[in-house]
Amino acid sequence: MDRMKQFGYRLNSSLARLFYGRNGFDNMARASYILGLILIVLNVFTGFGWLYYLYILLIGYSIFRAFSRNIQKRYAENQKFMEVTKVPRSFFKMCYMQIRDIKYSRYYICGKCHQQIRVPRGKGRIEITCPRCRNKFVKRT
Ligand SMILES: [Zn+2]
Repeated sequence: MDRMKQFGYRLNSSLARLFYGRNGFDNMARASYILGLILIVLNVFTGFGWLYYLYILLIGYSIFRAFSRNIQKRYAENQKFMEVTKVPRSFFKMCYMQIRDIKYSRYYICGKCHQQIRVPRGKGRIEITCPRCRNKFVKRT
């Protein structure tokens, strides 16, 4: 084993030992961590000092979650968090896919049941039928 690999192996096993019996970085911990990083960037650009305290709070919370031993409780909180953030998460996911597939497809949300529908691009005005609720609407693609 070369030295880099050995180092990687050691790092992995010590990380595993560190998080043994602990919650680890779940979605909520990661979200809180990322939000903290965004705030610190905003803090640099806006000069709002209080953002720094929010950053410390969020990073602290994220670390608290990662090292928490009450895995059951953290799991329940995380489930709830995922439920509450379902709509904005699917919105951001759609924005991401819209950008990723901009050459070939467009995405629409059914006005009735909020099902996400993908249609090929460049077909002009077409009538779209929602595959879930059969709601029809006309869009330019
Ligand atoms: Zn629908």
